[in-house]
Amino acid sequence: MAAILAKPSPSIARCLPMGTSLTTTPFLSSSKLALASPTLASAWESMGLSSAMVLRISIHSSRHRWYSDAIRVFRMMQDGSNARADEITMLGVISACAHLGALDMGKWVHAYVDRCCMRLTTNLGTALINMYARCGEIETASSLFDNMKEKDVRAWSVMISGLALNGLAKEALDLFAEMQNAGVKPDSVTITGVLSACSHAGYVQKGMKLLDEMQELYFVEPTIEHYGCVVDLLGRAGELEKALALIKRMRLKPDVMIWGAMLVACRVHKNVEIGEMAAKEMLELDSQNAGALVFLSNVYAAIGKWDMVEQVRCLMKEQRIRKPPGSSSIELDGVVHEFLSGDTLHPQSDQIYRMLDEILRLAVLRGYRPVIGGVPFDINEEDKEVCISQHSEKLALAFGLINSEGGTVIRIVKNLRICEDCHSVMQLVSELFNRIVIVRDRNRFHHYKDGACSCKNYW
Ligand SMILES: [Zn+2]
Ligand SMILES: [Zn+2]
Repeated sequence: MAAILAKPSPSIARCLPMGTSLTTTPFLSSSKLALASPTLASAWESMGLSSAMVLRISIHSSRHRWYSDAIRVFRMMQDGSNARADEITMLGVISACAHLGALDMGKWVHAYVDRCCMRLTTNLGTALINMYARCGEIETASSLFDNMKEKDVRAWSVMISGLALNGLAKEALDLFAEMQNAGVKPDSVTITGVLSACSHAGYVQKGMKLLDEMQELYFVEPTIEHYGCVVDLLGRAGELEKALALIKRMRLKPDVMIWGAMLVACRVHKNVEIGEMAAKEMLELDSQNAGALVFLSNVYAAIGKWDMVEQVRCLMKEQRIRKPPGSSSIELDGVVHEFLSGDTLHPQSDQIYRMLDEILRLAVLRGYRPVIGGVPFDINEEDKEVCISQHSEKLALAFGLINSEGGTVIRIVKNLRICEDCHSVMQLVSELFNRIVIVRDRNRFHHYKDGACSCKNYW
């Protein structure tokens, strides 16, 4: 029944993996495609799921928003048939859970692997370690890793990066030493993990030393990612001049990521001069980079160059350049709920905003002072048009408090770096509501408990 599709729907064609032709996908028919709703999963639902191929397509499509669709489709497949998933499908589902930070679903998938007596290959084991680490369950990841019989360089690297992501820098470095004692040679990915551990903990000397010696000791040539980690490490530690000197002396051409790391550091340490330069370098490479433009506009505002502010803002308006919206997700009973900043689309929206008001009211009683309006230099990554009190992670937090029982851990995944205001609100909530709150932002985990965060405010 090979239906030939003359004009595939662009929204569906977009998410097919490279090299997949719609004409070779037998269960897609043009009439059904015409009925397909905007989301892929509902398109499939309307087609009557019949093949694991659908799932494959979803899983291998690299677009983030399809991850939750992939999980949904997998669940429906399991509910509706006795079809047994193979290892490749499982790897895809596990990586979708890791990406979304969907721990409950990830645990369910792990149990499924056990129940089906699937052989825990090194690949499958590594995917599970990665999933637990990226969901903030580092102890489970560790014990899986310890029980793994054959550990290849990927397994070691995933564990090291997982420890780094969870702020366990010392443990990551210890494991790196253990890996070498076990005779496993580190590769480029391992080094990135170790450098990011150094960055999270502020181990400037160790990180610099590794960058200098990696080629000689491990025969791994430093890549732009490695330099990026060290620029980030120096930048966080406030060593802006050193970071700049490193960029200048590296043999590779600095990319947007490198200048972006520099820009973040300048924002945190309030360095106008280097920040302005980094922003301009970024714009040379990407003239529409919203981060660089917002930074410049704020820098000019801070030093009173209003004509320049106007220029930048006009440019942004003309070209319709906006910062990416902040988005946070939280899993409840196996369903991932996503919130954008200022979102009012959720069915429980009214309740969520009431809860948010209550949180902020209680927080103020504890001495919290909300950030009102734009603080000239503390430029946030998120669009300033959305009030800070409605940031997506705050909405997800309120949703979590409403819908989960007291004592349950609240887990939130955020696409950007968490802002200072949300960070302090999360700390207070962990104390006021006696809850453990775990936030995975773009860079790392924050585990909030009894009013404090695991990052010790160094992030
Ligand atoms: Zn925020
Ligand atoms: Zn933190």
